[in-house]
Amino acid sequence: MRSGFYRGNNKEMANSAHSMDNTAQKLAGKVIIITGGASGIGEETARLFANHGARMVVIADIQDELGNLVAASIGSDRCTYVHCDVGEEEQVKELVDSTVNGYGQLDVMFSNAGILSPSDQTILDLDFSHFDRLFAVNTRGMAACVKHAARSMVERRVRGSIVCTASVAASHGTKSRTDYAMSKHAVKGLVRCASVQLGAHGIRVNCVSPSGLATPLTRTSHATKEIEELQKMYAQSSRLKGVFLSAKHVADAVLFLASGDSNFVTGHDLVVDGSFGV
Ligand code: NAD
Repeated sequence: MRSGFYRGNNKEMANSAHSMDNTAQKLAGKVIIITGGASGIGEETARLFANHGARMVVIADIQDELGNLVAASIGSDRCTYVHCDVGEEEQVKELVDSTVNGYGQLDVMFSNAGILSPSDQTILDLDFSHFDRLFAVNTRGMAACVKHAARSMVERRVRGSIVCTASVAASHGTKSRTDYAMSKHAVKGLVRCASVQLGAHGIRVNCVSPSGLATPLTRTSHATKEIEELQKMYAQSSRLKGVFLSAKHVADAVLFLASGDSNFVTGHDLVVDGSFGV
């Protein structure tokens, strides 16, 4: 069940999440929602947040069996699973409402769920059959999560933190995956607008932008590639050598943005890409 391989490739990473000392409880007492938390970056972040003292991490996903297993492995006192398709605004609203009703407030929203289209198209063969679903999840879903998290924070006067997962594809033209790059560019626009509009309420809104890494998302889209092969392929576009990007690297960046370590940071896109360039 545990997609441990995606966590990292350094000894230091393998040890870090579970040997946290008590002085490093950066999210002590916080109530947190993580969308797409059943797998990959979201799962890794859920584990890291729980280890940093979060009072409750609510994993929201559509993979019910996996989500329940991840939550149970973290511990029912610190983590729970809720079915939520972020493409359906009503479900996002219910997710936020049930979290606030159950745990008193929402301090952190990590809006992370995202998908790829099955085909790897350029603009010349852009396939619109998946376009609307991709935008419903990656863009509208992201906006619904920011909207409903922010509404609950404003209503309860919570100076919360909202973090979205964008991508290096939010800032670069890409050779293919036109729809995905478009949807992630929109996430940066969302973060910029929301940070301006929510600043008066003390709510911070930021995003992380990873470059390519081996997770179930990218393994599915490169079905024939072994994990090691995928890592080497992505490493070619990073100028930082000797290390592969892992979900743990991304989770560490999300922790920075979610916690008080970034108390004066808002409207920021934190790239986690080892200096992307091809
Ligand atoms: P992943 O597939 O391991 O995790 C994504 C999770 O989102 C899955 O558990 C999936 O079930 C869930 N999900 C999908 N549609 C959903 C929906 N409608 N409602 C709720 N949950 C839904 O992939 P990942 O690589 O961990 O991706 C997480 C985020 O990181 C995505 O937004 C992705 O675009 C972004 N990202 C990934 C990479 C990469 O190379 N893996 C790079 C940059 C950005």
